Amino acid sequence: MEVDRDRCTGCGYCLLTCPAEAIKSDGWATIDEEKCTLCGLCPSVCPNDAFSGDATVQEPKREHESDYDVVIIGSGIGGLMTAAALARDGRRVGVFEKLSFIGGRYTEIDYGGYAVTTGAWTSLGPKSNIGEFLSEVGAEVDYLSLRDRRCDQQFSIRFKDGREYPSLQAMLPREDWRAFVRALVRGRKLDLQEASTRDYIEEHVKNDDLIRAVNAIAATASGVDIDQFPASEYVVITRDTAKAGLDFAVTIGGVRTLIEALEGVITSHGGQIFPTKEVSRILLDRGAATGIALQNGDRTKADSVIHNGGIGRFVKLVGPENLPPEYLARVEKLVPVDCAAIILGTTEPLLTEAPILMTPGTDRVVGIFAPTFLDPSVAPEGKHMYDVFLPLYSDDRTKELELAMGDLRALFPDLDDILDIMVPMFFTGAWAGTESGQTVGQVGDQRLDPKSPIPNLYLVGMDVIGSGAAGDLIPIGVRRLLEYLS
Ligand SMILES: Cc1cc2nc3c(=O)[nH]c(=O)nc-3n(C[C@H](O)[C@H](O)[C@H](O)COP(=O)(O)OP(=O)(O)OC[C@H]3O[C@@H](n4cnc5c(N)ncnc54)[C@H](O)[C@@H]3O)c2cc1C
Repeated sequence: MEVDRDRCTGCGYCLLTCPAEAIKSDGWATIDEEKCTLCGLCPSVCPNDAFSGDATVQEPKREHESDYDVVIIGSGIGGLMTAAALARDGRRVGVFEKLSFIGGRYTEIDYGGYAVTTGAWTSLGPKSNIGEFLSEVGAEVDYLSLRDRRCDQQFSIRFKDGREYPSLQAMLPREDWRAFVRALVRGRKLDLQEASTRDYIEEHVKNDDLIRAVNAIAATASGVDIDQFPASEYVVITRDTAKAGLDFAVTIGGVRTLIEALEGVITSHGGQIFPTKEVSRILLDRGAATGIALQNGDRTKADSVIHNGGIGRFVKLVGPENLPPEYLARVEKLVPVDCAAIILGTTEPLLTEAPILMTPGTDRVVGIFAPTFLDPSVAPEGKHMYDVFLPLYSDDRTKELELAMGDLRALFPDLDDILDIMVPMFFTGAWAGTESGQTVGQVGDQRLDPKSPIPNLYLVGMDVIGSGAAGDLIPIGVRRLLEYLS
């Protein structure tokens, strides 16, 4: 097997999946030929076809129908939420997924006893947009919340110089805290889509530590810094996290339980999901979508086609020549967000105050999530798992990783003594954190509408309208799409 370095986006799914431990990553995957058994699993989990060699991906034998009411391309959380709602509504739904697992960036892969996320670590709990959508479609999940853990903060704050605060309020002089809260409450009534978060906060409070902390919070929720992150979005994420309050939670067993719950709703209502079935073309007839063609040559018809595989792939599958020039021009201007996560397994806990640590003023690391703080079952007994999040500032992934590890060693001086596993995961290029991030000009209703310019063809997922913390904006676009299809 060989890895094409230009195609490797650094996600690390291959490393997590390889049963022979033949794959390593310093930002790019490399294979140890001596250990590789040619089992064929790595190409089946690679989002960008970076592998070539003798092994072939085994396609499941299961047959799909020759026509559906709705076909969905991609089984990300957006595609599955849509499929669940439509299947419950009695539509004949088929979901086609390129990878050998479903859930996209919202599930876990088992690695050394740890349930390592493919992207997201929590849906924020039952009061989030995702949580409310799940309960509406009857996808039942169990949560472990801050309240269950008798913890009263979603996050604490630690600077590299050793200063620590249990909350933003504790970090700020009383007058600054009041001015900050007033600005956020006032911001709900203002149109702040064109204002940067930095400008808006600095207009109301002069406090450098606050600016650094707000930057860490914004970047942790979106991958975007406060100069690019519109103040309107910052106001929304603070409102949504305040609403989650002490019900802020993880789903027991990891985010994949939420994917499994959606899968259960879809299949119990007659819907079908096909992993390892890549769509190679969206079929059009007289300018309208009529179905899909698969990589293996099969075709299937549908009254409606919904694309959940990212806007770049959408253009390829439909053919740029079939899209209006102004739509293409808009898509070309979208600003993607590259980011990375480092998964740490440790023998001692790193966080004891709250499930999230904001780390303002570091070189790279902005926030650290501790799934095991709320749910120990996602790591081997007695061990702890951390999901370290960082925006990227260069294409040199190895250097970005070194800078992040430097931050971690400064924040946790005994890290190397207690480290059990370390897995770098980059979200770049064709598998970016998101292809249209929450930057000025592409927030809320400025994002793409679920209705594409082509009749019967729709979009869903992270590129579509909505505001909120990371994936929690997706249900807003799903709801708009469901209105179009009702
Ligand atoms: C490091 C990181 C941390 C995050 N943390 C959180 C968090 O804690 N909470 C949160 O809510 N969000 C979080 N997010 C964001 C969240 O992961 C994403 O917003 C969400 O998973 C995107 O879902 P989606 O529906 O857009 O689909 P995706 O997850 O992008 O899935 C799209 C699917 O389409 C498939 N596909 C593509 N092309 C084809 C084709 N031609 N044929 C068939 N299938 C195809 C892909 O294989 C994939 O499975 C995080 C993201 C990252 C990168």
